[in-house]
Amino acid sequence: MNLQSTKTLANGIHMPRLGLGVYKMTDRDETLQAITTAIDLGYRAIDTAALYYNEEEVGEAIRNASVKREELFVTTKVWNSDQGYDNTLRAFETSLKKLDLDYLDLYLTHWPVEGKFVDTYRAIERLYDEKLIRVPGVSNHHEHHLQQVLAKCNVAPMVNQVELQPYLNQAELRAFCQEHHIAVTAWSPLGRGHVLNDETISRIAADYGVTPAQIILRWHLQNDVLVIPKSVTPSRIKENSEVFHFELTEATMQEINALN
Ligand code: NAD
Repeated sequence: MNLQSTKTLANGIHMPRLGLGVYKMTDRDETLQAITTAIDLGYRAIDTAALYYNEEEVGEAIRNASVKREELFVTTKVWNSDQGYDNTLRAFETSLKKLDLDYLDLYLTHWPVEGKFVDTYRAIERLYDEKLIRVPGVSNHHEHHLQQVLAKCNVAPMVNQVELQPYLNQAELRAFCQEHHIAVTAWSPLGRGHVLNDETISRIAADYGVTPAQIILRWHLQNDVLVIPKSVTPSRIKENSEVFHFELTEATMQEINALN
């Protein structure tokens, strides 16, 4: 694996295994600089959402990037207040306009809003049929939400983005998703920084001669989980991408799994 390694999704599309999350990047210059730094380092995926209020900046950074738009994998999400079939189609149009792109790589239901999330996904499915998105997906869906979506859809979601880190390893949900060919992306893969001071993680990091963040990201990748760590600090953006020169042993994997 390397920074440009991808996971092949259910429809054959290749999704980068490691990308940049841009939640809480609201300062324009900081956002542009973070995304540009990441792309120059070799990141090929950017994860935003309508809720993050930075789709314009994400689009601007992509248009000015050192690589072609087609080489990048761009994700955004429909926010809760815009769910339901027609509203989702409208929200997508707004996001696409803000990003100023012709298509999106991945579009997700941000959260399964009760009474609406199945219709939201049906709209995402239509966007997929119309080739406005390359991959249809969902976020924060538990097994029972997925069951409802699977019962009603023609094309199953190909990605489920969920909170996942060593203290919440989502083993059961991951097994369900694997069975249904749904790739799992970890949001807050570093637990928003809270897991970095864990004693076990720190000891393992010292043993491998890397940082706690690198140990955690590598653990995700070896579990076949896609990651989108967020940082605006260039040295951390670089650090988070340098997780391909070492491998955790099975014993280390088990030790981290046990932190759940
Ligand atoms: P994260 O786990 O990526 O942690 C980010 C924080 O950790 C940063 O703000 C920084 O303070 C710290 N950090 C990052 N790299 C570090 C390093 N190398 N060393 C030390 N500290 C470091 O948390 P996140 O931003 O919440 O999640 C990542 C992305 O997931 C978001 O940006 C967003 O794109 C996505 N997300 C999605 C949902 C959803 O509901 N689908 C929810 C939350 C986040």
